[in-house]
Amino acid sequence: MEIAASDLDISAIANPIRKMIRHTEFIVADVENINTDNKSVKVRHGFDRRSHSLTYDHLVLALGSVPNFHAITGLEQRALTMKSLEDAILLRNRMIAHLEEADPLYSASSRNDLLTVVVAGGGFAGVETVAGIHDFMQSAIRSYRNLHPLQIRVVLVHGGAHLLPELGEQLGRYTEKKLRERGIEVLTQRRLKSITDSGVTLDDGMFIGTSLVVWAAGNSPSPVVAGLPFATEAVELIPT
Ligand SMILES: Cc1cc2nc3c(=O)[nH]c(=O)nc-3n(C[C@H](O)[C@H](O)[C@H](O)COP(=O)(O)OP(=O)(O)OC[C@H]3O[C@@H](n4cnc5c(N)ncnc54)[C@H](O)[C@@H]3O)c2cc1C
Repeated sequence: MEIAASDLDISAIANPIRKMIRHTEFIVADVENINTDNKSVKVRHGFDRRSHSLTYDHLVLALGSVPNFHAITGLEQRALTMKSLEDAILLRNRMIAHLEEADPLYSASSRNDLLTVVVAGGGFAGVETVAGIHDFMQSAIRSYRNLHPLQIRVVLVHGGAHLLPELGEQLGRYTEKKLRERGIEVLTQRRLKSITDSGVTLDDGMFIGTSLVVWAAGNSPSPVVAGLPFATEAVELIPT
């Protein structure tokens, strides 16, 4: 998130992997599927998306997760996510584009929607993202002569009773208090139900006009891993 908020430069967090694994053969490719019977991995790579089969003796699965959009129509197409460096750069560019679009006098009627950001998900990623968005927008808006920091509206929508559920209620409530003190609206026990080009509707019927939504409200295992013929179990990362 520090990249999106311009607190860090990309070179501070991204390292060329080839320098770190000099004795390993490294291939940039997408794993399409894994055949555990004949111990092979089908990958697709290159500009022409050629496919290729790699065999293995031992396989380590570390494909991470993908955002789970909970089958909300249009969400995947309209919302930004916050999982990768590319996501962070895209979010930063979108925030700047919104400020640019909101500034001219002819944008007065769409200004509120352009300056409203909704983040869905009050876990680690959502909380960090909403705070970063708020700080970046509050600071950047001062460069725009027709805009004022009070015009920015940043909303965090969270389905649970308190934020950061992994850390317990006390820290969740403390986080909520700190976000509110900064001017961020925190809506708990509410979920995003639908999204259109003009905004989002929550499950209690509340409509928020916005064209910038960040989805940080759920992940699923990589579809490649989910398709493997193995039993899986959820692991509690921070025991309560
Ligand atoms: C905004 C944000 C802030 C966070 N802050 C912290 C923090 O401060 N501290 C902390 O400990 N954790 C933090 N996390 C969580 C942390 O990033 C994850 O827990 C961690 O990255 C998970 O590691 P991973 O190796 O399982 O998956 P990932 O880091 O997601 O790595 C998976 C890799 O596999 C690649 N991949 C996926 N599918 C394929 C495929 N089909 N073929 C080939 N490659 C594929 C992906 O491109 C990716 O490079 C944060 C997460 C977010 C989103």
